[in-house]
Amino acid sequence: MRIVMDFDGVYTDPSNEGDACSKSFRNKIVSLHLKEQGLETEEKVDSWLGELRARQASKPFHYGWRSEGRVSAFTFEDPFIRNIGLADFLDGLVTAGDERATQVLSRLKTTEKIQSFGELSEWAFHQLHLKKAPDHGTKAWVIEAIDRGHEVIIVSNSATDKIQEFLDQAGYPKERRPQVRGGARKFGLGKKPRPIEMGSVGSEKISVDTDRPFYEEALLELKPDAVIGDVFCLDLSLPIRLKREKKLELNWGIFYRHRDYTPSQMVEMVSGRDTQVPEVKLVREWSQVWP
Ligand SMILES: [Mg+2]
Repeated sequence: MRIVMDFDGVYTDPSNEGDACSKSFRNKIVSLHLKEQGLETEEKVDSWLGELRARQASKPFHYGWRSEGRVSAFTFEDPFIRNIGLADFLDGLVTAGDERATQVLSRLKTTEKIQSFGELSEWAFHQLHLKKAPDHGTKAWVIEAIDRGHEVIIVSNSATDKIQEFLDQAGYPKERRPQVRGGARKFGLGKKPRPIEMGSVGSEKISVDTDRPFYEEALLELKPDAVIGDVFCLDLSLPIRLKREKKLELNWGIFYRHRDYTPSQMVEMVSGRDTQVPEVKLVREWSQVWP
């Protein structure tokens, strides 16, 4: 059988990388020494960003990683998107006329040629030089899956050469290696919104946009029996729709890799008492994935 796997957050634990991005983002704002805005010290910047995160947390499904102006993944879904989502919230504040956010951005424009907080989060991502932290449980499972005759294919937003480099460093034996399709642009939405109601969190109904033409093309070509990922919106929402539309059978399953950062809201939506996404199995141990 054939399994399509995500990379970051499945083969790796990206927590340290996400923290490093947040730190670069915050340090850039600290370096502006904005006294008039009350942001002249590290402590003041931290307290401002902390307050913004708390405000954002009250509307978690309204911000995140955008594509074509629409939310493609929710802000808290993984340690990278957390930073992208904070930038999205800040850009929303600028649009709404928030004075402090506007002044910080105007300084970023003049001194750094950075045109939006989104651009600042991208810049922060490109400052990353940390080695990826391998998940050892994944390695053992993948090698066993290949030994059992299954086909394992990584489909990831990350670049193919970065993933290959990781597989080298993490000691995946040359002859028992997953295939790699990097640059998959799973976050990339198309022009025709396809929101699918997945379930609810509290009284809020949660829809996820499944108009992901790049990922759809890859999935329809590969016709996997199983998909596994750690970010519900990016990795799993489209396979769920394709299964519901009977375009893919996915008989082995659609697996949601549970990690320390997996948001409790998403766990509630997928497997809560009053709400469920029946197509998805939450995976805390690799042994749960065997067919
Ligand atoms: Mg991931």
